[in-house]
Amino acid sequence: MNSKILTALVVILMLSLGCVNSAQETAETQSREQNPLFHTVPEGSACVDARGDCLPGLTCVNAVCQKPDNVQTAGPIGTSSNQERCRQNQFKMAFVLVADNNQQITPERMQRLQAIKDVFPETFSAATFNLASVDTAYPIVTITGDQLDDRAPETIAKKFYESNPDDFDFISIFPAAPEFSNLATSNSQVQSFIQGLGKSLFNRSSQFGSSGKLLSVGYYRDSLSVPTTESSAVQILHEAGHQWCCYVGERFSTDPAVQLGILDDIEIHFYSGLSSPYSCGAIYGPSYWMPNADGTYNQSKECAESRKYHPFTLYLMGLYTRENYDFDKKFQLLNATYNDQAVPFKEISINDIIAVEGERTCVNVVPETSVGPTVSTFIAD
Ligand SMILES: [Zn+2]
Repeated sequence: MNSKILTALVVILMLSLGCVNSAQETAETQSREQNPLFHTVPEGSACVDARGDCLPGLTCVNAVCQKPDNVQTAGPIGTSSNQERCRQNQFKMAFVLVADNNQQITPERMQRLQAIKDVFPETFSAATFNLASVDTAYPIVTITGDQLDDRAPETIAKKFYESNPDDFDFISIFPAAPEFSNLATSNSQVQSFIQGLGKSLFNRSSQFGSSGKLLSVGYYRDSLSVPTTESSAVQILHEAGHQWCCYVGERFSTDPAVQLGILDDIEIHFYSGLSSPYSCGAIYGPSYWMPNADGTYNQSKECAESRKYHPFTLYLMGLYTRENYDFDKKFQLLNATYNDQAVPFKEISINDIIAVEGERTCVNVVPETSVGPTVSTFIAD
């Protein structure tokens, strides 16, 4: 149970039993010395979470003192925060190095992973135009094969939680050597509570040992051996972003019955014919298209900027809203069957996505389910 709810219920229970004794009064006095607002803020007024501001019987949710009844209707066990998380823009990521044995956990590999961990916050902020941030400060956790019954992400996550807090939106797992398991670089999704993303809702938190905080587990098969830490960081952008993208609409087709047609053949990335406003294209495949003299277009190969998420992705992440972005802005969708002679086909806006998939809304309670997707990376960006 949510500790805030639990605390509130315990307080109510104690009050109803009339057991507020002198020891508790002393505790109350001490708490008020540390926080003058302790137990003084009435229902509906502003509070700071986890500081005990609210009057007894109330609990601080969304920075407002509320009755526990209101909190309960928002959903039990970790799901009460789905509304808060609907437009979450501050994330926490844990980094785990897994190895067959301790000998494989070399200083070089630890330094390499530390460098990836250090660079990723900047990479993520740049990819989201500073609309979101990720905290990667938690120290690298190492787990060896003898501690694991098998090498599935679920098993590694459960082992992680035996000695680390359930405090992370993402866990990123890096094997010391690619042979650690057969798993490809991939993203195992733990829960899905946002409608309008073109994906089903599911919740398999307990399979991973989380009480509802964890969104997904990335597995980076060869990230410790790719040429640069920056390219590893882009792999994390890609896999972690699969939490939201790209499932809206259908694969590209010139069939008039296809409404959006902005996805690739496996319908988990964007079609390359979707135009990107950035000279480097965008994560998940949209390209920067340059006009040829004859009215066709070719893909620009020049790229000097940092990698970014497409505006559609930023919408799906909840970072572009009607307040900060024009949902009617159209992006060209080219028929890129002939790559250097792509031809304009139609134009798509965020409102066109909403017309097909519905508004982006968050569901409070998603029952525990046994299945959820593992999304592998089949293409480079
Ligand atoms: Zn992918």
